[in-house]
Amino acid sequence: MAVPYLISASILSADFTRLGEQIETVEKAGADWIHVDVMDGHFVPNLTMGPFIVEACRRVTQIPLDVHLMIEKPENLLEAYAHAGASNLTVHVETCPNLHRTLQTIHELGCTAGVVINPATPVILLEPILHMVDMVLVMSVNPGYSSQTFLPEVLTKVTAIRHLLDQVNPTANLEIDGGINTSTLPQALKAGANVFVAAHAIFDYPGGIAAGVQQLRALFPA
Ligand code: ZN
Repeated sequence: MAVPYLISASILSADFTRLGEQIETVEKAGADWIHVDVMDGHFVPNLTMGPFIVEACRRVTQIPLDVHLMIEKPENLLEAYAHAGASNLTVHVETCPNLHRTLQTIHELGCTAGVVINPATPVILLEPILHMVDMVLVMSVNPGYSSQTFLPEVLTKVTAIRHLLDQVNPTANLEIDGGINTSTLPQALKAGANVFVAAHAIFDYPGGIAAGVQQLRALFPA
């Protein structure tokens, strides 16, 4: 596989009274990206972060901001998140009836473009756009909350998508999000994922968040 192994630290489990300090700590500990889980209270039950938070993150770090839009009609807010400093914008296939246009718009805004599928969404829905994405994200929980249990049945989808990407877009990243920890990361890696989102396993790690990043990184092949 030509793609590197990366940790995308999700601030969904961060202490928001100390967000800047915690982002600096995960960056120093070796996190490659900061993952921002945006929820709208419609597509998913929870309500989280607007462009204002992305702008605040951008002020404290230079590493890529990996913005995951769990929102209906994401096309209405792409520009706002791009201008706030997002590096990557990932949209759900379930929310984008005009997916080619949405991905094109993300590229026109100067961001890399990802597409994400929920655990119950079949891989075939991605096939028409795989050639034009920078990343596919596979949800390994139903999106909406931190600290949920990993669904192992998504691993076969990860392998199927990596196989398809290797044929049409081999440099695209394959990210996995939901329930990633020291037990599940190796399974996802073996299945073909190369970018691992972790929230609880980093920000709530009993030994501290730097150790949380480092114990995940230690699982990558040398
Ligand atoms: Zn996410």
